[in-house]
Amino acid sequence: MGDILEVAEALWNGEKTVYTQHPFGPPWGPEQISEKTWFIKGFANTIVRSTPDGLVIIDPAGSVEADKKHRAVRSFSQQPLHTAIYTHGHVDHVFGVDRFLNEVSESNTNPVQPRVIAHEAILDRFNRYRTTNEWNRHINGRQFLGGGKADFPSEFHRPDIVYRDQLDITVGGTRVMLRHARGETDDHTWVFFPDEKVLATGDLVIWAVPNGGNPQKVQRYVGEWATALRSMAALEPEILLPGHGFPIIGKDRVAQLLSETATYLESVYDQVLQLMNQGESLDTIVQQVNPPEELSQRAFLQPIYDECEFLVRNIWRQFGGWYDGTPSHLKPASEDEQSAEIARLAGGAGQLIRRAGELANEGNFKLACHLAEWAVNADSDNLEIQLAAADIFKKRAGGETSTMAVGIFRDMARRLSESADQEAPGETVIKSQMNQG
Ligand SMILES: [Zn+2]
Repeated sequence: MGDILEVAEALWNGEKTVYTQHPFGPPWGPEQISEKTWFIKGFANTIVRSTPDGLVIIDPAGSVEADKKHRAVRSFSQQPLHTAIYTHGHVDHVFGVDRFLNEVSESNTNPVQPRVIAHEAILDRFNRYRTTNEWNRHINGRQFLGGGKADFPSEFHRPDIVYRDQLDITVGGTRVMLRHARGETDDHTWVFFPDEKVLATGDLVIWAVPNGGNPQKVQRYVGEWATALRSMAALEPEILLPGHGFPIIGKDRVAQLLSETATYLESVYDQVLQLMNQGESLDTIVQQVNPPEELSQRAFLQPIYDECEFLVRNIWRQFGGWYDGTPSHLKPASEDEQSAEIARLAGGAGQLIRRAGELANEGNFKLACHLAEWAVNADSDNLEIQLAAADIFKKRAGGETSTMAVGIFRDMARRLSESADQEAPGETVIKSQMNQG
């Protein structure tokens, strides 16, 4: 058993957890998973299937690891790339094909011109990425770096073939089934190889609570996601290769993961719709909906990337408007105005930040962060308040489990510290001490 399969086994058995083996962790492999299939774990995973006519590669590479993934493939196979499949258009999945195209142009003997297949909605996504490139740099900076701007590509290798609902192809006598489902994205494809019963889910499975709620990204589709997982289970796969995280090996384990993840999603989806149909506000729904307790304990359903509360908000957004059911939110006073009035009632911004500190010490970070924001808004030139608020947000980030929450709270802490820095360079010392603490 190779390293990847060993970790996969340990994760399933509970000897390791996703809190130390994060699905978005460092690269491993390549590793042979079955007679004809290899798995390369990266930030996102790459799956390579050999056929007599060449390789089928699912998600060849992310934008920052194309060379590494190409070298990994060439470490175990010299076969030409025949077909690349993008499971969806996220930038950690749709790069690297050019490395294989270069091989074709450099070779006089290689007759195979690789092709790329994806769902048709990927084309709109790539267009959207071009018009919102800077925006995506901001939100990915918050999500993954805790602030600042991340790299975000604007040029993409577009698919040669797109399909709508399903597509069956044969490569070198090997049947490959592509199935579309909306889930994490509107352009998702999952892939099944019937001969080896290998299922490649794309990001419909990521060894964590499904990313159906991402606070900063466009609509996700929790209900259709669950349906897709049940369609996969009906094929009785024996090996599941996820978009992120480690493989699941064995028919029973795959069936359990697919059906329990579907149940988790269905439960949250049904609860939200039921409360919406009763006319409840978004706030009431967020406070009342919980995932099934038993499933929340599963190793593969931990909230380390996304979390249930964010799924609830996304389901609301899919079926509701932006109005959240709280009338004062329809045409609100500005946050500055609200903050100034709350500070006046409290006896000043200083009272707010003091109370925020007390609440943070008691572990009530939800309330502490409201008060800290009001204090900062109400007295925006006060460096002491900014640094105290930064500390509260930093501590809150430290107690969160999901990448999404950690990134957004860290970003706020960073912006508060930086703005205090700009106003008073002498505060740098305090900041660096805070950063060490
Ligand atoms: Zn991904």
